[in-house]
Amino acid sequence: MCGIFGIYNSDNAFYLTSLGLQSLQHRGQEGAGMVTVSNGKMYTHRKLGLVGEIFSEKISLPGNMSIGHVRYSTTGNKHNNSVDVQPFIIDCSVGNLAIAHNGNLINADALRDRLKGDGSIFSSTSDTEIILHMMANSNESDIVDALIASLRELKGSYSILLLSDKKLIAARDPRGYRPLVIGRLNDSYIICSETCSIDAINGEYVREVLPGEIIIIEDNLIKTIFPFKADVGKNCIFEHIYFSRPDSTVFGQSVYNMRMRMGKVLAEESHVDADVVIGVPDSGTHAAIGYARESGIPFLQGLIRSRYTGRTFIKPDQKSRESAVMLKHIPIKHAIENNRVIIVDDSIVRGTTLKRLVSLFRKYGAREVHVRIASPPVISPCYYGIDTPERDSLIAANYEVDEINNIIESDSLAYLSLDSLKKIQGDREGSYCESCFTGYYQ
Ligand code: AMP
Repeated sequence: MCGIFGIYNSDNAFYLTSLGLQSLQHRGQEGAGMVTVSNGKMYTHRKLGLVGEIFSEKISLPGNMSIGHVRYSTTGNKHNNSVDVQPFIIDCSVGNLAIAHNGNLINADALRDRLKGDGSIFSSTSDTEIILHMMANSNESDIVDALIASLRELKGSYSILLLSDKKLIAARDPRGYRPLVIGRLNDSYIICSETCSIDAINGEYVREVLPGEIIIIEDNLIKTIFPFKADVGKNCIFEHIYFSRPDSTVFGQSVYNMRMRMGKVLAEESHVDADVVIGVPDSGTHAAIGYARESGIPFLQGLIRSRYTGRTFIKPDQKSRESAVMLKHIPIKHAIENNRVIIVDDSIVRGTTLKRLVSLFRKYGAREVHVRIASPPVISPCYYGIDTPERDSLIAANYEVDEINNIIESDSLAYLSLDSLKKIQGDREGSYCESCFTGYYQ
């Protein structure tokens, strides 16, 4: 997980990048950073915490191009370490370089060991630093050639922004796991994770960076190359289900429309009589509206999400995760009592959220509680950048649907089928990675 944002040729590079990062905050809340370039010199500010606190009014960095990053660790030290906050900077044989990365390199350990054996000294625990060391160690004198040489050795997912004294470079892995898009704002170019941050600065969405594409922006010209062989499409379907912001267009498709359709088809597949449909905010909300519209059962905002609690996922043990769910999702008793309720959520991972919510809904007087999930059962971990626990902790990897229904104590439970999820993808069907639902990694 993580979000990246870069801008080229803007007098407001610092300010616009901080806005861009703010609108990618949902992609990572552990830390954020930015690097700008002015007269061949790099300036940086990186810290643990939220974008708004890090890039406050007291801070400004000079320059007319910059890259920034919001972090949510899926590799390296997962205990919020300031050395892992990106972008990373090095001064090496190909010049000054800064990098921001969204993705997960699955051969990181082997590459790190090899580089260490060759004398590289690492200053972070993140897999991203490996890319810089490989560039520095390559025999290439040109930055783009060094990048290509380094990328050739990587396995896994990467959407990357690279900044040198003169260039802004973007690269996306040949399977296109994580999103990356191009925008324009007057004479400036923007490259970032999601279209919502192009909208946030009033820019125009141009297109996706294509899988396997490298974009080089220099001397106000944009150049594109495809140095790698075409590979199978592996866009991460979980970006649509859970991760991206609903106002974004991701992999060429509206996240909002996808979620509404997931809810609609879920209602067609698993109708149940009830009085109200309640979504688990935020990522279950649009699927719940889609479900309500299709089923004719009214949608009710019976759960509110507290804006002030941290992530429930990274809590160290199950007990603290459970209490965090209580703080994060607040059921409204008067909306629930005496009703037969359908709760719609985007996914079940460990089962913590729904077990807690079903029990709270009953306590608040729901007559029946039915659970509908707008994605198939998550049976396998993600190795490409979504934070999922190992198989042992995935409830659907260990229990059948009717057993999960018993565990979470709902009156009924149904998931969206994988077939329907594929149909919802329309003309993009076949270009998504669904390993978390199939356990099949290719
Ligand atoms: P769990 O409580 O473990 O079953 O997790 C499911 C809840 O966490 C759902 O409400 C999802 O919206 C949310 N969720 C799903 N995947 C993730 C993830 N990778 N990181 C954080 N939250 C997630």
